[in-house]
Amino acid sequence: MYITLVASECAPVAKVGGLADVVHGLARDLLARKLAVEVYLPMYDCMRYDRIQSLKKCYADLWVPYHERWIRCDVYSGQVDDIPCLFIKPMSAENFFDRGIYYGHDDDTARFAFFSRAVLEYMFKTGRQPDIIHCHDWQAGLVPVLLYEMYQPMGMHHPRVCYTLHNVRHQGLTSPHILNQCGLDPHHLMVPDKLLDNTHPGTVNLMKGGIVYSNFITTVSPRYAEEIKHTDLGHGLQPTLNAHADKFGGVLNGIDYGTWNPEIDDFIPHRFSVDNFAGKFGNKAALRQRLLLQDRFKPIVAVVSRLDQQKGVQLISHSIFYSLANRAQFILLGSASEKSIDDHFRALKHSLNDNPDCHLELGYNEELSHLYYGGADILVIPSAFEPCGLTQIIAMKYGTVPVVRATGGLADTVFDANHSNKPYEERTGFTFMEFDEAALEYALGRAIGLWYKHPRHFHQLRLNGMRKDYSWTQSGAHYLNIYNHIR
Ligand code: ADP
Repeated sequence: MYITLVASECAPVAKVGGLADVVHGLARDLLARKLAVEVYLPMYDCMRYDRIQSLKKCYADLWVPYHERWIRCDVYSGQVDDIPCLFIKPMSAENFFDRGIYYGHDDDTARFAFFSRAVLEYMFKTGRQPDIIHCHDWQAGLVPVLLYEMYQPMGMHHPRVCYTLHNVRHQGLTSPHILNQCGLDPHHLMVPDKLLDNTHPGTVNLMKGGIVYSNFITTVSPRYAEEIKHTDLGHGLQPTLNAHADKFGGVLNGIDYGTWNPEIDDFIPHRFSVDNFAGKFGNKAALRQRLLLQDRFKPIVAVVSRLDQQKGVQLISHSIFYSLANRAQFILLGSASEKSIDDHFRALKHSLNDNPDCHLELGYNEELSHLYYGGADILVIPSAFEPCGLTQIIAMKYGTVPVVRATGGLADTVFDANHSNKPYEERTGFTFMEFDEAALEYALGRAIGLWYKHPRHFHQLRLNGMRKDYSWTQSGAHYLNIYNHIR
């Protein structure tokens, strides 16, 4: 089978969050199954070029129609951890992907609509007819629309489309003008059962287009699939998802155990495993040294997260003070794209600068994140909502006990030490329901308390988490079933 993935991120070259890990992990799993795989990405100027092997121009002068003119693109090929990738590099005054950041511009919808069109134009001109085009998030939502409205009539009859929703809070809302720009007919598409947004009159919804036109839709956990069909977490897409419920399901994300595995991880100084756990404590010491924390008999509570409202920034702040007041050390690795949130954490960092039990690292640092997972005892994830969440899954693999709000994929993967109805060996952390400080304190308090009072039980929770299998093997098999089904 020949599968192409179309996305705006792929770890480690272009990563903002979990989407990148998923594209990378899924592609590697499919390759391990001996399938032909290609990943299409924009060629951002800010990518990690040092993580691409054999980068070379493979197609010059791809002319892509765009709003009564043509934009010239070059296409580059390269390998990312053995994954064959194709990078689209447009050359026009708009400088779509030479902006120094991945997202956050007023014309983001135009940037990725153009990318979607360019991907199909490239496939068309090079005679590629993949069995499956697997599109991700709103950035690739226009791909199935363009395929079925424009490229199929021109002869691309073969491909079928699987579409994965990683976060429906971001849907790619924009003006119908974008359809003209991409050569589509707004009169035909701006109707309630196609791309017209369900709540904003006269607005195009790119994610809705992806849902309507794809042959199968997934989201990244079973719980989130229910939440977005039946609650406000669908952000207006509930009627569309219900109308297409027969081709919609939740597939839990995996993580790539080639990247996230304390037995082989190059970014932690001490390797460890269930049977050889001592290295964990070596990493804890190394983490303290690196962050200049004092060496005391205390658990380390950590947060590794984008800092935005989804991640529960108020509760993250509260967990700092709660941890410090309850004999724990606290460390954070987080990046905020919103200025007010960035200012808030910078002020906190300043006020806690001299505290030997606390370190706040503001920014994005892939290598350092491995040491956080490898050395911390507890990881807090107090999200307002969480489609899947990877940090709790990574934490468990590294013997770090997650404390999570029971929403979306967090509820599907973390089972409470005291209150779960699962057998004890399947309990892996602490959960809380209400999105407030008291609920967080109750869960985090139990975690810190267990670390002090019942270390053997705490250790058992660590091992339970490490023994869980959240590799791509299972999730990849699910996707393969879906591909076969729609083929
Ligand atoms: P989301 O996609 O909503 O950001 P996920 O939990 O699905 O959340 O994935 C987050 C990914 O990004 C994980 O691999 C996590 O380790 C990584 N990550 C988040 N913040 C940072 C950061 N500041 N530095 C390094 N890695 C980070």
